[in-house]
Amino acid sequence: MSVVPRRPTTAFTSIDFDRPGRQIGFVMFPHSPHDDAWGVTRVPIAVVANGKGPTVIMEGGNHGDEHEGPIVIGELARDLDPAAIQGRLILMPANNVHAVTASLRTSPIDGLNFNRTFPGDPAGTITQQISAYVTDHILPLGDAFLDLHSGGSSLDFIPSAIIEPTTDEALAKRNTEAARAFDAPCTVVVPNLGDQRTATATACRLGLVTIGTELCGAGRVSSEALDVCRRGVRNVLAHLGVMEAPARPATVAAKQILELRDSSAYVYAPSDGVLETFHALGTPVRAGEPGGRIHRTWEPGHPPETISYARDGTLFARRHPGRVRPGNCCLVVASPV
Ligand code: CA
Repeated sequence: MSVVPRRPTTAFTSIDFDRPGRQIGFVMFPHSPHDDAWGVTRVPIAVVANGKGPTVIMEGGNHGDEHEGPIVIGELARDLDPAAIQGRLILMPANNVHAVTASLRTSPIDGLNFNRTFPGDPAGTITQQISAYVTDHILPLGDAFLDLHSGGSSLDFIPSAIIEPTTDEALAKRNTEAARAFDAPCTVVVPNLGDQRTATATACRLGLVTIGTELCGAGRVSSEALDVCRRGVRNVLAHLGVMEAPARPATVAAKQILELRDSSAYVYAPSDGVLETFHALGTPVRAGEPGGRIHRTWEPGHPPETISYARDGTLFARRHPGRVRPGNCCLVVASPV
């Protein structure tokens, strides 16, 4: 357990985190590019607070090409009646704001993947400054953290609630219960091969009940994913005691939890070409079974290369663009825990 101490920052905000009611504003990060010597990068933030209850932090736009979370968080910021909750929501719909406005996974300002910069650096580039502010000044305010991702430009997922693994067994149990409460079509443990530089890993280290999502993807806005996200967020707020429980079917407890066990969950492209996949998302698959092939369309004498699953499970995600290069992630298999 390494808890990062609060580091000095040049960022500032007009939000009063202790005030009840609704506030919508920005965290301002001094930013001095060629055309704006004394300007700021504005990261949007809203607080909706009423009475006594837990503080729930919701993040969207961690990656800028994943749109459902930011849409749903914006709806809550505008439309949620403070009187309908007991507690406080800290709503950050577009944390890597330059990536969000560019609709890119990574920031066009410094080229960084926000979700590989935690715990950040308050004296680093803009992306590192934002992750440092979230680590030092936002997450310590929270009891729970929801990081709403979708598949982005390169992947398409079964809409899923994601469990961040943690060695803290009591927290792991609470994370699992919260992810189950989200009630997405799938609930999946995603360890990111042990990477600790993510927002959710950081929130777990700080002891917050932490869940994520992966909601369809392909860089589009999916109405199915939006429905899952709108309902899921309210389900979790009810689970945490912030809102009244919505009426919903009692399907939650029956759902099996899946996981991306290790690197065998992923099928990477071995060669350069165009990817044909064989199975729809949700298909049960077996280790050794062909999952697709890569066509070298510009070399007709070159036969296609078959790629195969490396473990038994359910086809959880697929690459969206056809064009693949060696090392690209093509298929992802989730297996029962
Ligand atoms: Ca993502």
